[in-house]
Amino acid sequence: MREGIHPNYQEAVVKCACGNTFTTGSTKNELKVEICSKCHPFFTGKQNIVDAAGRVERFMRKFNIAKEQE
Ligand SMILES: [Zn+2]
Repeated sequence: MREGIHPNYQEAVVKCACGNTFTTGSTKNELKVEICSKCHPFFTGKQNIVDAAGRVERFMRKFNIAKEQE
């Protein structure tokens, strides 16, 4: 194995649209993804539930709506 072929390769924090974060190797120190192993239907088999919850939460945060107002 040769060293130095990926000089900028480091641990990166990946932030998924579902709210999950995890680390991986990348040339960047932060990545944003639309889908990850926690919300991808291939891995979870319950994509609708996780995806809907994540989208609602993001919507509520964006418009600063408190859930207790209902
Ligand atoms: Zn995700």
